[in-house]
Amino acid sequence: MGRYRIAVIGGDGIGPEVVAEALKVLGALGDPGLALELEEVEAGAGCYQRTGEDLPRETLEVCQAADAILFGSAGLPDVRLPDGTEIAPQLTLRIRLDLYLGLRPIKLYPGVTGPLRLGPGAGIDYVIARENTEGLYASRGAGVRVGGHVVTDTLVVTRPGAARICRAAFELARHRGGAPRDGRRRVTCVDKANVLKSYAFFREVFDEVAADYPEVEATHAYIDAMAAYLVQAPDRYDVVVAENMFGDILSDLAAATVGGLGLAPSGDIGDHAALFQPSHGTAPDIAGKGIANPLATILSAGLMLDWLGRRESDAAALAGGRRIEAAVASVLSRGAPRTPDLGGDASTAAVGDAVGSAL
Ligand code: NAD
Repeated sequence: MGRYRIAVIGGDGIGPEVVAEALKVLGALGDPGLALELEEVEAGAGCYQRTGEDLPRETLEVCQAADAILFGSAGLPDVRLPDGTEIAPQLTLRIRLDLYLGLRPIKLYPGVTGPLRLGPGAGIDYVIARENTEGLYASRGAGVRVGGHVVTDTLVVTRPGAARICRAAFELARHRGGAPRDGRRRVTCVDKANVLKSYAFFREVFDEVAADYPEVEATHAYIDAMAAYLVQAPDRYDVVVAENMFGDILSDLAAATVGGLGLAPSGDIGDHAALFQPSHGTAPDIAGKGIANPLATILSAGLMLDWLGRRESDAAALAGGRRIEAAVASVLSRGAPRTPDLGGDASTAAVGDAVGSAL
C-alpha cells in the first residue's frame, strides 16, 4: 500500500481556504490502497509577524522529511522585509529543496470559456517548464544597492542549471501527446537571446540538449513575441521552457487564457522532493470571504499524487491523480457550481464539495 507523508502549509490570505478544499478532496478519494499522513506546519507573512520567521526550522524539517508538500500561497503586500521585498517562503523552499522544475500545466477544460476566440476544434493544452532556482531570481536577497541611485540584480544562468531544466522539458514532451494543433511533440525555448548573453547561453544549452531528443521538435521564441503567440495561437504549443522570471510572467498570462489563476495548478519539482501549489497568490482582495476558487489547488493535489505515483511506481497514487483531474473536469463541464471568478456565485466550500461528490 502506498503510504505517504505530506507536509501541508496553508500560508496566508486565501491559502488556507483553498488548501482546506484540496484536503477535503484527497479525503474523498476513499482508496484503501493509498494512505496520506498529513502534517500541518506554518510559514508565510502571518507566521513572520507572529514569530519573526517566515519559514521556521520545524517547518523546513517537516518539509525535508516529507514525501511531498502541499502548499497554499504565502505573502501579503503590506508585510515586508527591511530591504523592501516580500515574505516568500515558497521561494526559499525551492532553493533549499532544489526544486528546479516549475511545472505549470495550462489546459482549457471543456465548459470553460476563456477570453480568446479559438478556431473550431482548437484546444489549449501545454505545459510551462519554468526554471525555478536561478535566472534573475537567483539574486533574491543579494542585489546590490548603492546609496539612493543605483541598484543591481544579477541574472544567473549556469550550464548544469540550464541543462537540467531543458532536459526536464524534453522528458515532459516525450510523455505527452504533442501540441493540440498538429499532434507534434515540441519544446519551445523562450528567451531574449537577441539582447543578453545569459539568454544566448541558455539557448545554446537548450540546443545541445535538444540534439539528444531527435523525436521532439525544438523551437525558439523571444519572450516578447511569445507573449503575443500564447494569445494568438496557443494550440501550437506542447512544452515551453523558460528562465525563472520569464516563466513566472508567462505562467500568469497563460493561466488567463484558460479561465484565470483559479484554474492554474503547479508543481515545484526536484530530483528528491516536490511541492505542489496553485499558481496564484494569496489574493488579499477576496481573502476571508469564502469565494476563492479552490480548483487550482485541488488540481495541484492531483499533480502531487501523479508525481508520487510515477516516482514510486504506485498505481493507486497514479489513479488518484487521474481521478481528481477527471472530477474537476466533470464539475467544470457541468457549468456549476462555480466561484465568482468563473462567473458563478458558489462558495469555495461548495466547489470543493462538488469535486468530492464527483469522485
Ligand atoms: P494574486 O494571484 O494573489 O491575485 C491576483 C488576482 O487574481 C486578484 O484579483 C485575486 O483576487 C485573483 N485570484 C487569485 N487567486 C484566485 C482564486 N483562487 N480564486 C479567485 N480569484 C483569485 O496576485 P497578487 O495580488 O499579485 O499577489 C497577492 C499576494 O500574493 C502578494 O503578497 C504576493 O507576493 C503573493 N503571491 C504569492 C505566491 C505564492 O505563494 N506562490 C504567488 C504569487 C503571489
